[in-house]
Amino acid sequence: MSKCFQHALFGQPIGHSLSPRIHRRFAGMLGIQLRYDAIETPPEALPARLARFHAEGGSGANLTLPLKEQALALCQQLRPAAQRAGAVNTLIRTAHGWSGDNTDGFGLICDLGFHLGQRLQGCRVLLLGAGGAARGVAPALLDAGIGKLTLCNRNLARAQALQQALADSGRVAICGFADLAALGPFDLILNATSAAYDGAFPALPPHLPAAGALAYDLSYGQAAQPFLRWAKATGAAGCSDGLGMLVEQAAEAFQRWHGIRPDSRSVLAWLKQD
Ligand code: NDP
Repeated sequence: MSKCFQHALFGQPIGHSLSPRIHRRFAGMLGIQLRYDAIETPPEALPARLARFHAEGGSGANLTLPLKEQALALCQQLRPAAQRAGAVNTLIRTAHGWSGDNTDGFGLICDLGFHLGQRLQGCRVLLLGAGGAARGVAPALLDAGIGKLTLCNRNLARAQALQQALADSGRVAICGFADLAALGPFDLILNATSAAYDGAFPALPPHLPAAGALAYDLSYGQAAQPFLRWAKATGAAGCSDGLGMLVEQAAEAFQRWHGIRPDSRSVLAWLKQD
């Protein structure tokens, strides 16, 4: 009988998450025995729940909102993407403890480039949010050759901290939501806030998308709807939720744990059929 891996997703809220279905599907396709649970976890409970998970045989985990930045401190090692992002979405158990990685940036760039055919070179990008997800994707966007990145966040100090961490002052600007009235247009507008979960999505001005712009919400399902409704009303040329990113970041995490990359394209098609 082959080994059964025990992996899990930690976060809050996670009732909506498709990650367990995705990872179980990957494992099933590749003949790998895997138990993958969703463990609802408020920030203060993460250290104890992660320790218990490991004590009970857990060897790999994903982190979602609002735990990605907090998880850094629980890692004994950080891989370059997590170090650069200052946020962890994947934990790999090694002989030395938890090794933290971040596959969100890869997942986004892969979805934009391969699935959506979005050109990134020279793009003017507006990134809404400066939490764990924004931290994961911002370095990858800069590495992909975008022209300028404007970070917009409710809490300006958090945007400032991310701007400093990116250390690319020529290409990265910050602003608050009220400043958007005087900014733009943008070729790519990314919503990396969790605002839809608290039912208070901020009002955005209609002039933000440039001709041919893509509006992309990192969330999927109901949580993506307020932003996508706004984008459609502005006449943005393209609109997408973050389902493709979710599958691609999951495929990367799966590869870190099992040494083999699943066929993400077929799993994305399978999810879209539902
Ligand atoms: P965090 O809790 O780390 O950050 C939340 C962000 O949302 C902060 O920037 C916060 O601003 C902002 N925010 C929350 N409420 C509001 C509001 N009412 N108005 C304006 N801004 C608000 O969460 P994550 O960064 O981890 O996740 C963000 C989103 O991205 C989630 O919806 C998550 O599901 C999605 N995601 C999707 C992925 C995918 O693979 N498709 C991968 C990763 C994330 P402030 O700092 O001011 O509080």
